[in-house]
Amino acid sequence: MTQRIYNFSPGPAVLPESVLEEARDNLLSLGKTGIGIIEHSHRGKAFIAVLAQAEADCRALAGIPDNYRVLFLQGGASTQFFQVPINFLTKEDTADYLVTGAWSEKSVEQARRYANVHIACSSKDRNYAYIPAQVEYSPRPKYVHFTSNNTIFGTQFKSDPQPPGDAFLICDASSDIFSRPIDVAKYGLIYAGSQKNLGPAGVTLVIVRDDLVKSAALDIPDMLQYRIHAENDSCYNTPPTFVIYVMGLVFKWLLSQGGLAAMARKNEEKAGRLYECLEQSSMFRGTADRNSRSLMNVTFVTGNESLDKQFIAFAQERGLDGLKGHRSVGGMRASIYNAFPETGVNALIEAIHEFERTHK
Ligand code: PMP
Repeated sequence: MTQRIYNFSPGPAVLPESVLEEARDNLLSLGKTGIGIIEHSHRGKAFIAVLAQAEADCRALAGIPDNYRVLFLQGGASTQFFQVPINFLTKEDTADYLVTGAWSEKSVEQARRYANVHIACSSKDRNYAYIPAQVEYSPRPKYVHFTSNNTIFGTQFKSDPQPPGDAFLICDASSDIFSRPIDVAKYGLIYAGSQKNLGPAGVTLVIVRDDLVKSAALDIPDMLQYRIHAENDSCYNTPPTFVIYVMGLVFKWLLSQGGLAAMARKNEEKAGRLYECLEQSSMFRGTADRNSRSLMNVTFVTGNESLDKQFIAFAQERGLDGLKGHRSVGGMRASIYNAFPETGVNALIEAIHEFERTHK
């Protein structure tokens, strides 16, 4: 088999090797069924058991209270940008948005089509290099929406925003879900695309409070109603069976690693080492403010575009792939999600040191 290399891709991203091996083994026959995992009917006993186990493990992993529904939906996190407002807002309502990057900007654009949007804070003035400390809410927002980790700009909230009054909290956790413990009870709804910390692309995990599901809009297409998906256990139409299966394996893997607290320690260790290396470097520097730095996406530059390009090529030759930063930040981005191995972070640090020695 071809040697695997270090994959710093922001998503789809690296998965645990044991998960890939188990998925491979079950491609031809899921357990002893004689039918491969991707060939099973979503209405059959075998897949229904896979789905139930994935949900049970997800609940155990994140300590999801009983009054929350776990949904496996489609359309990516981008669909949540409008599914959230059309379920929860009427034209007269106002929703507050914390704007900390390009994905929050997109969610605002969508919500504006359905209701009033109040921007409670924005870090656009410095190209989203920080998480604002000050938030100004509108008098009576229906909900407060934020992006817990900004994949492109390498920033992450260190604590949850506190919505005012009866407003509920909505979180786009696409790029840091299950990277640290989460107090689900503080949220109305959490959503995350699967392709970073959860599995292959193709599912959006939605964790939503039951009373919000029950009171959501009815005059919208069935496929967009959380209620319809909740009532049909995510099988209203054909779900992405394979992705749900692999997500289930990832949940099991996370449990076997010691759960979310253990994951948080590992992530702090991995990112901490990389940030320390950047702080000590005279050639490279991180782009995010120190107190806003993401443990998932580490963004850095040399300050010289041509040198950045040389470093990316240099790293590529050493089997470090996917380090090119997003065009709106430039430079490099090391995406080091849960499944990214410590040895890969060490290899990047070595490459940085060697590049500094040889490119003075
Ligand atoms: N939100 C965040 C924080 C993201 O990083 C991304 C994708 N990189 C999205 C939303 C959009 O996700 P999708 O491609 O699943 O629609």
